[in-house]
Amino acid sequence: MSRPIDPAPARPTPVSTGPCVRCRRPTTRYGTGASPLCAACRQARAEWLARP
Ligand SMILES: [Zn+2]
Repeated sequence: MSRPIDPAPARPTPVSTGPCVRCRRPTTRYGTGASPLCAACRQARAEWLARP
C-alpha cells in the first residue's frame, strides 16, 4: 500500500514580499489588500487602532 502524496505545506503561500511600509524591513504579506507590515508593526498598528 503506497503512501499518498504529501499535500501542500501547512503554512500559507506568500502572496507578495517587500519592505515594511512602516520600518522598511523586508517582510512578507499574506492575502490580498493587506499592507506589507512586519509582525512587529502589525501588532503596533493593531494596538493603535484599538485606542479610543
Ligand atoms: Zn515594520
